[in-house]
Amino acid sequence: MDIPKEIKYCSCGLEHFCAIEDIIIEKGANKKIPALISTASCKDVVVVSDNNTHPLCASDIAADLESQRIKATEMIYARDGVLIPDEKAIIQLLEKVSTQTDMLIGVGSGVVNDICKYVSFKLKLPYMIVATAPSMDGYASAGAAMIIDNMKVTYNAHVPKAIIGDTNILRSAPIDLIKAGLGDMIGKLSCLNDWKISHLVTDEILCDNVYAMTDNAVRRCIRDIDGIICRNEDSVQRLMEGLVVVGVAMSYMNNSRPASGSEHHLSHFYEVINIMSGGKYFLHGIDVAYSTAITNALRHKLAAETPTKFAYSFNEDEWQADIRSIYGKSAEGVLALQKKLGLYSNKNLNYIKEKWDAIREVLSEAMTYEETVTLLKRAELNIEEFYDLYGFDMIKNSISYAKDLKDRYTLFWLLQDIGLLNKYADEFGKLLS
Ligand SMILES: [Zn+2]
Ligand SMILES: [Zn+2]
Repeated sequence: MDIPKEIKYCSCGLEHFCAIEDIIIEKGANKKIPALISTASCKDVVVVSDNNTHPLCASDIAADLESQRIKATEMIYARDGVLIPDEKAIIQLLEKVSTQTDMLIGVGSGVVNDICKYVSFKLKLPYMIVATAPSMDGYASAGAAMIIDNMKVTYNAHVPKAIIGDTNILRSAPIDLIKAGLGDMIGKLSCLNDWKISHLVTDEILCDNVYAMTDNAVRRCIRDIDGIICRNEDSVQRLMEGLVVVGVAMSYMNNSRPASGSEHHLSHFYEVINIMSGGKYFLHGIDVAYSTAITNALRHKLAAETPTKFAYSFNEDEWQADIRSIYGKSAEGVLALQKKLGLYSNKNLNYIKEKWDAIREVLSEAMTYEETVTLLKRAELNIEEFYDLYGFDMIKNSISYAKDLKDRYTLFWLLQDIGLLNKYADEFGKLLS
């Protein structure tokens, strides 16, 4: 798969660069790993897997490497339930790394990728990811999403040296992981809209090239949604390629702006809150997909407003009390972040009123709630399960307070700036009925 390593002199004024050297997504791709390791002059690697991906292909990869006289130490995360990328997982991996180790090879999907990305970055070692499911867009991105001190924190780490995806393995992944990858792609329709909004309101750089490459990748996947759901090999390859393209887009911008907006704020909220309370939550991309229906509903409601009603309002004492009651022991970190960012201010209000026609036009470009829900149904995602699991109170709180976890301008900050956020959150139930 060929993606340009760099775009020099881009029309947005930036130079875009991605350090990934090889992206191999094809049938039998895993057989190419020993040659890639040898070309990289590596001789001593740690192969990281879990109790699912070890029997699936990690043990074969390690055996192939050993047969080519490359020392392959295995780190197998054997856990009941979900593997969490936390302090314990980091220490377990560090125990397998020696002073001779010259590369980490992750075999798995989201969590294994995040742990390997984070640990290899800290150790200043390269890493390679052998994807076993087209489940999320983080393979090619530099961000490592970890859970540290019970908080989801995305660290700016580095990109893998290579991404390997054997389509035979990818298409056999559990269907929920395939749906999650598709959901993560569908979510880009929400975050790209946020990017345009932020460009209009805050003058954030909007790169037309990176925007178009992300948008094209998403539309290719959506056109092929039926093939992806029935595990057609070419379709699953297209999904995996789309997820990688989005990751490269993030590398190009040096942040996750092309891939993560208000819909990801909601998904992070559900994850963080439920990790703290021990509650259940959906796979990342599935949360993102349902959250896209919510943010699109809010966009269309907002597009119908007239700016004479807009007025800034913020009660700091009430806000602090709410943050403390919702985020519990993580609240002080959230409060400190927002204090540092200073986003609560009336500085954008008049400008938003002035620019309202252009903003409304962008908001109206989004799919409607009904269109989004219909699209999700084609991906075998029924939004009723989302309402059943979280309930309207949690969803209402997410609309008001998910943005406080992040530093990014999105639809939620736009609503905050014009004094409508909490009203929209309260009216959420009515909005959908
Ligand atoms: Zn995502
Ligand atoms: Zn650009």
